[in-house]
Amino acid sequence: MKYFDHAATTPPYEEVTRTIAEVMARHYGNPSSLHRFGEESAKLLRRAREVCSEALGVKPGEVVFTSGATESNNLAIKGAALQYESRGKHLITTATEHPSVFESCRQLERWGWEVTFLPVNKAGEISVRQVEDAVRSDTVLVSVMHVNNETGIVQPVADIGKMLKLKYPRVLFHVDGVQGFGKVGLPLNESGIDLYSLSAHKLRGPKGIGMLFVREGIVLQPLLAGGGQEEGRRSGTENIPFAVGMSKAVRLAKEGEGNTTLKMKRLKERLIGEISAMPELELNSTLDGAPHIVHFSYPGMKAEALLHMLEEEGYLVSTQSACSSRRSEPSRVLQAMGKSAEAALSGIRISLGDEHTEEDIEGLLEALRKSISRVRHLKGEKKS
Ligand code: PMP
Repeated sequence: MKYFDHAATTPPYEEVTRTIAEVMARHYGNPSSLHRFGEESAKLLRRAREVCSEALGVKPGEVVFTSGATESNNLAIKGAALQYESRGKHLITTATEHPSVFESCRQLERWGWEVTFLPVNKAGEISVRQVEDAVRSDTVLVSVMHVNNETGIVQPVADIGKMLKLKYPRVLFHVDGVQGFGKVGLPLNESGIDLYSLSAHKLRGPKGIGMLFVREGIVLQPLLAGGGQEEGRRSGTENIPFAVGMSKAVRLAKEGEGNTTLKMKRLKERLIGEISAMPELELNSTLDGAPHIVHFSYPGMKAEALLHMLEEEGYLVSTQSACSSRRSEPSRVLQAMGKSAEAALSGIRISLGDEHTEEDIEGLLEALRKSISRVRHLKGEKKS
C-alpha cells in the first residue's frame, strides 16, 4: 500500500517512536516532583522545549505544550478573547479555517462575540486588504491559517502580520501553522505573529501532542483549570515522552525543510500537470500552493467511490480532510471557493510525504487513469 494522506497524519520516524518508548519506560517521574526522578523528567521537558523553540526561532518560555493543534487553536482563540475582553469583542478569521478555529469562533459568537469570516477568492485566498478593511476599534484577534489543509493554498500571513503590527499593534495575530511548518518557510519573528499552532503528528511525530507559541507578554485565559503546569497556561501533568518525541520531529522537519520542499515541489508539478490534462477532473490546488497537497474534484462522482477504487489499486488518498471526511456534507472549504455542490462533494486530496519517489507518483497516476476509465466504462454501460 502506498500512503498518500500525509495531510491527515504522517508515519512517525523510527527515531521518534524509539525515543518515546525509551523515555516512557525509563523516565516516568512527574516533572513537578521534587525528587531526582521528577528532576530528570523536568530536565527532559526543558530540553524538548528548547529544541522546539530553536526550530521556531523563538524563546523557550514562549512554547506551551498542548494535546495537539486542536487544543492550541482553541487556547489561542478563546484564551485571547476571554483575556482581552475589555479591549472589545470582535474577531476576524476566514471562511476556510480548520474546524478547530472555525468552531472556536462560532462558539465565541454564541457567547456574545462578533466574528467576521472573510470570504476567499476562487483560488481560496484572502488578501491583506480584506483583513485591513475588516479591522475595527474593538477587534481583539485575527486568526488566519498558513496553509489550507484541504487544498494546500498558502495565505499571505507574513504580509498580514506585518500590516497588523504597523497599523494595529493592539490586535493579536494567530496563525494555524500545522500544514505549513517544514514545507513553506515562515519566519515567526519577522511576520508579526503573536500566536502560532503546531501539531506533532503532521510532522512524523506522535499524535496527541502539539504546541502553541505565545509571544512574550501575551496572557491567555487558560482553558483547563488545574495544577498550573506550563506556567499556568495549560494544566495537566506534562506528557514527557511525547514532548521529547515532538521535539525530535520538529527538529527533523526544520532541518529537512529545503530539501523536502524541493523534492515535493517536483512531484507535485508532475501530478498537477497530468491531472489538469484529465478532462473529467477539476483541480482545486495551484502550483504555488504548499508542495505536499494536490486536491481535485471529479464532479458527478462520489469522492468515496473513487477513493476506494484507488485503494483497490494500492493507493491511499483522502476525501476532503480527515477531520471532515466521515461527514458526507460538501466541503465547506470548496464551497467557500465558489465550487458547485457537485464539485464540493467529489473532492479528492493527495498529500505527499518526504518518502515519496517519482515512481510512486507514476504508479498513483496510472491508478487514477485506470479508475477514471473504469468509471467511464460503467457510465457508458448505464446509458446503453
Ligand atoms: N489545523 C490544521 C490546519 C490541521 O490540518 C489539523 C489536523 N487535521 C489541525 C489543525 C488539528 O490538529 P490535531 O490533529 O493535532 O488536533
